[in-house]
Amino acid sequence: MKKPYSFIPFLPMKEYKKTGNEEGKIDIKLEVLTPVHISSGHLQEHNNLLYKQFVKFNNRPIIPGTSLKGCIRSIAEAISYSCYPKSKNVDYKKFSKNKLDESNNCIICNMFGAMGKKSKIRFEDLQLREEDIKNKMIILNIPQFYPPRPENNLYLENNKYKGYKFYHHGDKKILEKGKFPYEFVNIGGIFEGSIRFENMTEEQVNLLCFSLGLNGRIQPKIGYGKPAYYGSVKITTNEQKWIEKANKYENQSSEEVKGNIKKLINILNYDRSKRNISEWENGMY
Ligand SMILES: [Zn+2]
Repeated sequence: MKKPYSFIPFLPMKEYKKTGNEEGKIDIKLEVLTPVHISSGHLQEHNNLLYKQFVKFNNRPIIPGTSLKGCIRSIAEAISYSCYPKSKNVDYKKFSKNKLDESNNCIICNMFGAMGKKSKIRFEDLQLREEDIKNKMIILNIPQFYPPRPENNLYLENNKYKGYKFYHHGDKKILEKGKFPYEFVNIGGIFEGSIRFENMTEEQVNLLCFSLGLNGRIQPKIGYGKPAYYGSVKITTNEQKWIEKANKYENQSSEEVKGNIKKLINILNYDRSKRNISEWENGMY
């Protein structure tokens, strides 16, 4: 049976205890490729219609830094020697590679933070451009999703976990419709903001730049409705140096990491991989 997602195999966890002296600020633009919804947790009413509101700050739609951080972290985990987060529902014997890191010393915990470990990266909230507040906000009726618990993302095959799960991109004509009204930022909407980092190694900065998709090789998915092809976005920067760093991660990594990068590009490169026929089916995702 076809599914709207694929898996990236796990790489083993490797200890990473370096502290670097790289610091900087990356100004980014995030362009909406298929409608995006990030929930404020509130219902709003307009002309007797109740709908789930997009998250806002001072009436301006934003992509909260925490949402972007989570999205970029899961990409970075799949293309590095990361650990798998500890949870009582995770059985470490079911990984084909060692993913257990008792002391949060992998490259990802080192840069994004973990229990008792400060993040070296600060994701600011991204703000929707002024002109898009009027022109790009729409209400769309979408299907109901049953969000899986994190441990349900660990699909088993031959009694081993399959890998990191990523949803496919889809062309706008296959966006699934439903009965539940949500406020979306429509295609073409642009958010702006920046990411700051400190005490990182060069390798970590390169990994961050590639995971954001700054060299154009991958486009992340963010927010609600990913199994139904919502939430595809493209992140760009005007500064060439960050693009070069993203290229470096792609070209200078180990063969093992390069293998995963290739697989990830096959899933997350929007132009190359977007589906024209929906693989969506109602149910658990
Ligand atoms: Zn870790």
